[in-house]
Amino acid sequence: MIEASKLTTEFGSLVFNDKIMKERLPKDIYKAVHKTIEKGTHLELDVANCVAATMKEWAIENGATHFTHWFQPMTGLTAEKHDSFISPTEDGKIIMEFSGKELVKGEPDASSFPSGGLRATFEARGYTAWDPSSPAFIKDGSLYIPTAFCSYGGEALDKKTPLLRSMEALSNEAVKMMRLLGYEDVNRVNTTIGSEQEYFLIDKDFYKKRKDLLLTGRTLIGAPASKGQEMEDHYFGVIKPKVSAYMHDLDEELWKLGIPAKTKHNEVAPSQHELAPVFETANIAVDHNQLTMEVMKKVADKHNYACLLHEKPFEGVNGSGKHNNWSICTDTGINLLDPGKNPGENIPFLVFLMSVIAAVDEYAPILRLSVASAGNDHRLGGNEAPPAIISIFVGDELAEVLKAVEAGEAYKAVGKSQMTMGATVLPHFTKDNTDRNRTSPFAFTGNKFEFRMPGSSVSVANANIVLNTAVAEEVAKLYAKLSAYSGNELKEKVKEVLKETLLAHKRVLFNGNGYTDEWVEEAAKRGLPNLKALPDCMPYWISDESIDLFTRHGIFTKEEIYSRYEILLENYSKSIHIESLTMQEMIRKDLTEGLVAYEKDLSKEIVQKKSLLDGDCCALELGVLKSLDKSSAEMGKALSKLFEDTKKAEGMTEALETASYYESTVLADMDELRKYADEAEALIPEKYLSYPTYGEMLFSL
Ligand code: ADP
Ligand code: MG
Repeated sequence: MIEASKLTTEFGSLVFNDKIMKERLPKDIYKAVHKTIEKGTHLELDVANCVAATMKEWAIENGATHFTHWFQPMTGLTAEKHDSFISPTEDGKIIMEFSGKELVKGEPDASSFPSGGLRATFEARGYTAWDPSSPAFIKDGSLYIPTAFCSYGGEALDKKTPLLRSMEALSNEAVKMMRLLGYEDVNRVNTTIGSEQEYFLIDKDFYKKRKDLLLTGRTLIGAPASKGQEMEDHYFGVIKPKVSAYMHDLDEELWKLGIPAKTKHNEVAPSQHELAPVFETANIAVDHNQLTMEVMKKVADKHNYACLLHEKPFEGVNGSGKHNNWSICTDTGINLLDPGKNPGENIPFLVFLMSVIAAVDEYAPILRLSVASAGNDHRLGGNEAPPAIISIFVGDELAEVLKAVEAGEAYKAVGKSQMTMGATVLPHFTKDNTDRNRTSPFAFTGNKFEFRMPGSSVSVANANIVLNTAVAEEVAKLYAKLSAYSGNELKEKVKEVLKETLLAHKRVLFNGNGYTDEWVEEAAKRGLPNLKALPDCMPYWISDESIDLFTRHGIFTKEEIYSRYEILLENYSKSIHIESLTMQEMIRKDLTEGLVAYEKDLSKEIVQKKSLLDGDCCALELGVLKSLDKSSAEMGKALSKLFEDTKKAEGMTEALETASYYESTVLADMDELRKYADEAEALIPEKYLSYPTYGEMLFSL
């Protein structure tokens, strides 16, 4: 356990961070590395050799025997392959070695990672390349080196490469714009991300007894417990001591890895919790989120918990998401989404705000796709998470600012009002000009946007790749309209262009309750897309508009776009296929076993009782038996249908058609089957079931 007084020194103790580099690297080498990180310049081999030697020394001092390139293939997970530092010598001994070449480049066999047709299996070579802007760290006795992953032909096979490309694209466009607006000293613009991570904790012994959780991450059957989340007593509730011990351990592990874990609390659903870090530069934040998810699972194991990161592990209670807080900040320290004291006069703010509004409206289907997955589609639109319709909440103050933009009038900033709580002993403070809105998928929250649609289990890279690129595009469009002007003319032109952009995109602005049916109707009237599931979004991904966008900014080549199309569809279909098989097995074996055993006991009891008492007895037992029999008969029919339809799906070959079939038919079959299975399960006493019920899992900690 880290003592509180040692925290400042223990934070990042397993990270080869800037402080260590400054202390240990020769000055000129340190400078060269920094230049690479800041300007993206090429790293010379002698510099790499020196950094590698220093890294190795530091890693060995900290207990590492191995190193690994750490990358994020398109599985959405992370990948690693460890090599020890040892190198045999002639005298039968070893020395510890690590060269600059090993640091900057790796050659993992790429053939078993998804490539979506980018690489034939015989062209197995893949390369990993060091990302010096994300620091190396030590975990489980290995030095981890964050890397990008590409094919022999140079196509990105991972999530980091396009993310870095998108950050650069946005930076390039934003710098041009800032300079046009008179901020000559801006050389780079950084994307910043803070991703709040939701998760469930359940007893590990329960977890192990459920095939659905083990194989698919979510429960596929399960009658609801008598209590759900209706008492609203879990959100921000007192953290139970066992959970608190877990959270404490988790924080410490994350801090040692240099991950700035900041906030922890109970979430809305029983057994659901959240962790939020302090925001960081996008690629580091994404790396850190991947690590956070991994450490969450590892620490859970030590505490005899299973940490569930699936977006919808339990029906009937909230699922888990990953709010993506996003902003852009210049290297001179200006947060471009900070409205400041007088937002109406803050030209950079208005220009970037409008670019975000235009980007989200224009590219809504692709943004929707960036968060689509078999898991997350269960959560979106479930009246507990944002709907699948993308809209933007700007809040009262900005709504007024935008009204002024539209009317071509000056906006007068209203001072903050004083909060009055009616008791003089309470502190006096000023009130925010805008209340919160919890139902918006894309909400302005003071000095950043919070994209609330990403699912809890996936990398946030995709969402940010799309967001960065779309905003880069809109900034570029505004720049093109403004670049011919200067001085007062520019000022006037900015007003005109902002108004024009607002008029074109204001349909995406919505400050009301996004969970209502009225909004669904209203959104349809406004022409906003409502894409319910991944297969619905896919055609947009390969549309001309999308290919244009991503190729123009150098984020994806056409081939890279198509490879992701194949992978997403395949992954979607495979996930539902596994769910279908798992559900069939659980019902056929586990539920049926409990059901038959209970029916047998009930029937025996009824026969025996009837032989002793008169014919009218056993009303309750007979009632239960009849209900069970009815549900099981329906269950049998629904099970056959799911079996048949899944077989049909297995024979299908066209990717989009198959995925759509899984969505419209197989998932619907599963819902139908679940209805009867849950009806039956609700009648069966726990002791007859080989797996734990919702009540046990959600309320036992
Ligand atoms: P809220 O209560 O509105 O959710 P918080 O202050 O708790 O806001 O922040 C939530 C997350 O947003 C945190 O991870 C925080 O670090 C992050 N965040 C704050 N400012 C920024 C920013 N400029 N860019 C990106 N993320 C930010
Ligand atoms: Mg938040």
